[in-house]
Formats: sequence, C-alpha cells, structure tokens
Amino acid sequence: MSIRKPIIAANWKMNKTPQEGYQFARQLTAKALNLPGVQFILFPSATGLDHVHEVLKDTAIGLGGQNLHSAEEGAYTGETSAGMLKACGCQWVIIGHSERRHIFHESDDELRAKVATALNAGLKVVLCIGELLEEREAGSTREVLERQLRADLDGMDALPVDRIVIAYEPVWAIGTGVVATPEQAGEAHAQVRAILEGLFPTLNASELRVLYGGSVKSSNAASLIGIPGIDGFLIGGASLDIDEYVKIAELSQLEA
Ligand code: PEP
Repeated sequence: MSIRKPIIAANWKMNKTPQEGYQFARQLTAKALNLPGVQFILFPSATGLDHVHEVLKDTAIGLGGQNLHSAEEGAYTGETSAGMLKACGCQWVIIGHSERRHIFHESDDELRAKVATALNAGLKVVLCIGELLEEREAGSTREVLERQLRADLDGMDALPVDRIVIAYEPVWAIGTGVVATPEQAGEAHAQVRAILEGLFPTLNASELRVLYGGSVKSSNAASLIGIPGIDGFLIGGASLDIDEYVKIAELSQLEA
C-alpha cells in the first residue's frame, strides 16, 4: 500500500441533479468522519457545485469541476471558467478526461492551456491520461502516456506535486466493466513516474500521487490499492452509489 494518503475521487459525469448531489454529500460527510485515512473529492456537474459546496464547505472533503475553459471569460457559450469554479467553492478540476479527449475531441494543445489556466487560478488539477485498446494491443501504452504527459505539461519548469495529481485511466477500462489487472495498472503507474522524472529532473516522484481509474468497484479496489504506486482512484459509475463509494474508501484506507 502507498505511503501517500489515498485520494478517493468521485467523477459523477452528467449524473445527479443538484438536490441529489446535496443528499449524497450529506450522507458522505457523516460517513467520512470514520475514514480520516483517505482524501475524498467530489466532482459534480457544474450545476451541482453550489449545492454540494453548501454541505462540504466546513469539511475536509474536496470539491472540483469536471472541466474548465482556458480563457478567463468571454464568448464561450456553454463553458465554465476557473474563476466560476472557484466561486462555487472548488479547489480541484479534472482536465483531460478520456470523454473530453475522445467525445469532445479536446486536443493536447487545449489541455495544456487548461492546465496552465487552472494552476494560475490556484486550482489543483487531476490530469487524466490513458491509452486506447488498440494502442495497448499494439504495445504502445508507454509511448501514449509519454506523448500525453509531454504535451499536456509542456512549458512547465517544474511539476508542482502538491497541486497536480495524475489519473491513469486506460480508455478501454472506463465505464466498460473491464478493469486493468493490478499488474497492468502497476506497470503503467511506474511508467508515469519514470516519464515524469525524465521530463522534470528536479521531481521527487515519490511525492507525486497517481490515481487509477477504470471500472473500479468495491469488488476490485482492494487488489488495486495494494499495488505500490497506486495512490487512490478516480471513480465514475461506482461513485454514484454512496454505499459502494464509501466501501471503496474503506478498502483504501491507510493502515494505522
Ligand atoms: C471515470 O469516469 O473517470 C471512470 C473511471 O469511470 P468508471 O469508473 O465508470 O469506469
């Protein structure tokens, strides 16, 4: 098990009304008191942020947006700025989720601009990376991870490990029910650390947190969190159910 406090992050995607998010957050605040060994972060949709913040504001549970625009403000219909996320109480934002990359065709250039905007605004970033099935089958997983990390973090002199978390999310495992084996995830996480050490010579990779995401459930969480280098989870489907989400956190707690 990792020595870094595991992050158990809930990516609700386009699910839950503000009221449903509020109820979930209330249930979680009660249950989280017994789970000081993990860091919870909720990522509701933009419309739910205010309601969830109302519940979380005096707790240690983090709040984040699922996306942001790189511009400060302006004529970008349907978009959300870093300042808007902060005004809704967010400390975090997800950037580069595979659904943003593949459904909404966000390019690495856009993602690099988003990372810079988020950090400049004082938000902490969960940067998602991961390979497609055909890329894994072609043996190019490491190459893909390196290409994404190099492009999305280009221009940064140093990696602020207290403000960036990497989520390794193989695209073939997201929302499919097919989870990476502990060996596959462990290997990819080690590659992420090695790539980043190559890109940022001053980096102390043992301080960096790398999450796994892709069909995590209470039935597979224990075998994954036991792998060195897996520092928690970014959870989609299973994070919609409070009991399942809390169970994953219980299985991920740092041992006393
Ligand atoms: C995700 O949305 O980041 C994710 C990993 O989804 P799921 O857990 O449903 O595969």
